[in-house]
Amino acid sequence: MEALIGVLPGDGIGGEVIAEAVGALDAVAALGGHRFEFRHGLIGGAAIDATGRAFPEDTRQLSREADAVLLGAVGGPKWSDPDASERPEQGLLDLRAAMGVYANVRPVRTHPALFDASPLKAERLEGVDLVVVRELTGGIYFGEKHRAVDRASDLCSYERSEIERLLRTGGRMAMERRRKITSVDKANVLETSRLWRRVADGLLPAEFPDVVLEHLLVDAAAMHLLSRPRDFDVIVTENMFGDILTDEASMLVGSLGMLPSASLNDRGGGLYEPIHGSAPDIAGLGVANPCGTILSAAMLLRHSLGLDAEARRVETAVYRVLESGVRTRDLATPGTPAATTRQMGEAIRHQIAAAR
Ligand code: NAD
Repeated sequence: MEALIGVLPGDGIGGEVIAEAVGALDAVAALGGHRFEFRHGLIGGAAIDATGRAFPEDTRQLSREADAVLLGAVGGPKWSDPDASERPEQGLLDLRAAMGVYANVRPVRTHPALFDASPLKAERLEGVDLVVVRELTGGIYFGEKHRAVDRASDLCSYERSEIERLLRTGGRMAMERRRKITSVDKANVLETSRLWRRVADGLLPAEFPDVVLEHLLVDAAAMHLLSRPRDFDVIVTENMFGDILTDEASMLVGSLGMLPSASLNDRGGGLYEPIHGSAPDIAGLGVANPCGTILSAAMLLRHSLGLDAEARRVETAVYRVLESGVRTRDLATPGTPAATTRQMGEAIRHQIAAAR
C-alpha cells in the first residue's frame, strides 16, 4: 500500500507528539509492504506567523490531495487576543469544514495498567469501552457569531440532514460493537436538541432495529459517565457536548494525553488528531504524552488505509509499553522517574518492530 499522509503539527506540543506518531507509522512501514509519504503543512498559530492565515491555501490543497491527515494541536497564548482578526482555532474549524469530516469518533477504553493514573476507583474503571461519536462541522461552533462591547451571541443550528448522517455513523458503529446507543442532548431546553431527539427516535429504530436506543440529557450524562461508565457503548451527540464530555471521559483513561480521535467524511478520508490541545504550559519541555497522537495514527491506519492488523499492532505496542511501566509525567506516580516524549515514542517504535 502506498499512501500520502498530510502532517500538520500545529502549535505548542503539537510538533513534539506528531514526531512520535510519524515515527510509529515509519515503524509500521519498516515492517514491509507499505510506503507512506509524509508531506508537512502549516496550521494554526504557526501558519498565522508564517502566512497571516490560520488555514493557508497550501494546507487546504494538501488536505484535498492526502489520503489522510494527521494533526497535532493548535493555539496558544501568543495568538489568544480576542480582538485578533485571525485565530488558530479558526484554522482547525476551517480544515474540518474543508475536509467535510462531520463525524468525530473518540474511543475511550480503560486499561488496568493505567487504573492508578485515574482519579476514579479501579472498580468503576474495569471494562470501560465506549466511543463518543461527536458531530463536528455544525452546531454552536459554526453558527453566526456577534460580539459588541456589552453583548455577544453564538447561534446554534442544526439541519435534519446533519443529524441524520451523524446518527448513521453511530448506528453502524453500534452494530459492530455492543449494539447500544446513548443519544445525548438538552431537549428540555434547546430547540436544536428537540429536533435531534425527534430525528434519533425516527431514524435509529427504523434503520438499526437491533440497536437499543436511550436518551440522556447532557448534564445527567456528565454524571453517569463517572458513576456508571461501563454501561455506555456508543454515545452520539452534538458538537459542543461531545467536546466537553470527551475531555471528562479522558479522566477514566488516566490522562487527556491518552485519547485519540478520527474525524471522518463520506469519502473514506479522515483527519486524525489527539483530543487534547497545544498544552502551552508544557510545550517545549519534552514531557508531553504522545500516546493519544500515536493511537490516532493507529486509527488512520484502520479507517483511511484499511490496515486493521497494522492498527492493532500499534495499539498493542502502546499498551505493552505502558504495562512495562514506561510513563510520561502525566501518568507517572509522583516522585517516580518519568519518560520523555521521545523516550515514550522510541519504546513504542521498538515494540511495534518486536511485537508478533
Ligand atoms: P489542553 O488540552 O492544551 O491542556 C489541558 C491540560 O492538559 C494542560 O495542563 C496540559 O498540560 C495537559 N495536557 C494536554 N495534552 C497533554 C499531553 N499530551 N500530555 C500531557 N499533558 C497534556 O487545553 P487548554 O490548556 O485548555 O488549551 C490550550 C490551547 O490549546 C488553547 O489555545 C486551546 O484553544 C487549544 N486547543 C486546541 C485543540 C485542538 O487543536 N484540537 C483542542 C483543545 C484546545
